[in-house]
Amino acid sequence: MNPTPSQAAALLRAAPIPAALREIAQILHDAGHEAVLVGGAVRDVLLGRLHGDWDLASSATPEEVQALFKKTIPTGVAHGTVTVVHGRGDNRVHAEVTTFRGEGRYEDGRRPAEVRFLRDLREDLARRDFTINAFAWNPIREIFTDCFDGLGDLGRGLIRAVGDPAQRFQEDGLRAMRAVRLCAVLEYRLDLDTAAAIGGALDVLDKVSRERVHVELFKLLAAARPILGLLPMAETGIWSRVLAPLEREAQYAAIEHVDRLPRDPVIRLARLLWPLRGDKAVIERVIDNLRPSRDERARVLALTNPALGPLGHSRDPLEIRRVLAKVGRKYAADAAALHAGEWAQKVTIEEAIRGAPLAVGELAIGGDDLVREGLATPGPKLGKTLADLLDWVLEDPRRNTAEQLLAHLRG
Ligand code: ATP
Ligand code: MG
Repeated sequence: MNPTPSQAAALLRAAPIPAALREIAQILHDAGHEAVLVGGAVRDVLLGRLHGDWDLASSATPEEVQALFKKTIPTGVAHGTVTVVHGRGDNRVHAEVTTFRGEGRYEDGRRPAEVRFLRDLREDLARRDFTINAFAWNPIREIFTDCFDGLGDLGRGLIRAVGDPAQRFQEDGLRAMRAVRLCAVLEYRLDLDTAAAIGGALDVLDKVSRERVHVELFKLLAAARPILGLLPMAETGIWSRVLAPLEREAQYAAIEHVDRLPRDPVIRLARLLWPLRGDKAVIERVIDNLRPSRDERARVLALTNPALGPLGHSRDPLEIRRVLAKVGRKYAADAAALHAGEWAQKVTIEEAIRGAPLAVGELAIGGDDLVREGLATPGPKLGKTLADLLDWVLEDPRRNTAEQLLAHLRG
């Protein structure tokens, strides 16, 4: 069901807009400028979802905004954005106020070559990405603006580009990623013309900063139903550019599995890359291309280690312990979540590793003990002795006591 404009206005009137934010709009209004709430927050009010940050758009230029408020931060003045810090105590807000914009030519697939500041709200909304992101609410005059039938698309559950989709994706490649991310997060479908246009703009997507792509991909993967973004990602061809090409069957199996995994983007990304486990270089290229944090990179590589394969089916506790000893305790829980599809298999894994050491550091005795007992001398052979001990304990974790380990070595 799609809300009518007057229902939308009623929802926005009742929305928990912070008092200080409303004051900012009032001050701009009293100075003769238009000031409206825009973007994801307006969309999410209409969907009954919570949204943290409210964005304001205004006919006031950055200089005019700076002149009106005591405390401002020139966040992105060249692009028309000034952060206004306003209100006291708990009421204080940092609000981004962006001058109505129109955009000139795009050169690198991401940044407009020039930004034109405008006095017209409609033109500002026309440069926004999707119809459901192109609403405006004037909280002072209580006017709701929807120039592109965004309300209709809310009702239909559609992500549809504002204006000519082919042109919009040519201007800015990130929009393709935003489209599939929004499909997953909002549980929407891509409008057919919008989907078709993405396929023709993949070269523009290639030029977008990888950090921005990372943000969108991880938001998609953290959604309750990532399948709704991953299917269009596969069908439009975004997948092959951002990840790596996969055979259709493996790709769809991965997509279907990801929906049932914990809502952890790294575990889910590892599942998408699992079919490539035979080729570590490809996995490294994909993950490095996403500019991951050190921790994200290490986890993806650990979880796509081909040695983990038996976790999905092995009933042999020794085999399970050996596999997990290879990837380490730190990744054991994630590896079980990822590779043990069924509950029964997870239980098998938990039982296999309960109380068991998975690394030499978890043995009941260490290298120092061996040297003190005269059973080894410091050096490379010591490491080998400890590794052999771990192997022996993996066979039966009850062996992990100082007495038994020492007796075994003396034996
Ligand atoms: P989120 O729920 O993640 O905050 P959002 O839609 O608010 O989603 P933002 O990145 O906060 O996303 O952007 C705010 C608004 O700015 C969007 O709703 C949209 O109107 C506009 N916008 C953002 N990125 C683009 C883009 N690449 N092209 C055109 N308009 C954009
Ligand atoms: Mg937002």
